Amino acid sequence: MTAQAGQTAAATAGRAASRAPYRGRFAPSPTGPLHFGSLVGALASWLDARAHGGAWLVRIEDIDGPRTVPGADREILATLERFGMRPDEPPVWQSTRTALYARAFAQLSATGLVYPCGCTRKEIADSLANRNARHATLAYPGTCRGGLAGKPARAWRVRVPDGPAAIVSFEDRWQGVQQQDLATEVGDFVVKRADGQWAYQLAVVVDDADQGITHVVRGADLLDSTARQIYLQRCLGLPEPTYLHVPLVTDANGEKLSKQTGAAPLDAGRPLSALQDAARHLGLVPASGNWNATTLAAFQEEATTLWAGRFGVPRR
Ligand code: GLU
Repeated sequence: MTAQAGQTAAATAGRAASRAPYRGRFAPSPTGPLHFGSLVGALASWLDARAHGGAWLVRIEDIDGPRTVPGADREILATLERFGMRPDEPPVWQSTRTALYARAFAQLSATGLVYPCGCTRKEIADSLANRNARHATLAYPGTCRGGLAGKPARAWRVRVPDGPAAIVSFEDRWQGVQQQDLATEVGDFVVKRADGQWAYQLAVVVDDADQGITHVVRGADLLDSTARQIYLQRCLGLPEPTYLHVPLVTDANGEKLSKQTGAAPLDAGRPLSALQDAARHLGLVPASGNWNATTLAAFQEEATTLWAGRFGVPRR
């Protein structure tokens, strides 16, 4: 994925989606309690929805069975409530929506875009290592495009175009114009995993469209997934939301703060100071240099005004 500084190309479909009434979302994976990094993502998506006078939805992304921690979903929802972020519609759980993913998969299959892949991770790594090192990328080399060669099917991949058609560009509202060549940087990618689970890329595209999401606001760790998602939207004939990826919160070693690396859960007893820190991470600082708000409501009002100013959103 490369940033295209100074270009003005914009995602035309994105502009089309943005004319619909604003619908945003926060889509946590219930792999543990919310930490400061996820609060930043939640707050950014909430502020963008409020600044636009739109709806803010919560979707629990529990599609990845092995990573899901029982009870983490309820804990996340309770923490959001405690921090003053209440969804405008009842939350949805991906685990209840698998029929939608199966339908999208069938649609892709009907157009001949998906094929079974029998490669193990090791086989893919070996095949990449055997290529000329100077040209080697981490893209799937397309080994099973022409057939399984007697191997059992493991995962299912969607075919990406070759040549210039593989280049996907979009304008990120925070990061600027982005471009990724799916053929050389990603390769045909997995839509149904070897363990039988639907891949995140497919589920998120289906859900964003089904829920009428017009604006995706999330952490920059997903910037690299966006071109794949836009490609799937095009294959499935779905509208393209606009995207905004907020800078990641990193730990002292420069690693993304995550539940997996043991980030501390939020202190639900002190929501205001954590929210003010999260706003500061988003570059939102009142003109006085300090947050004076002593209530959640006052903080929300001040932060929404700052966000609207930062992103040129006319307040409604
Ligand atoms: N469930 C993903 C995560 O927690 C976020 C997906 C998204 O916002 O598109 O990292």
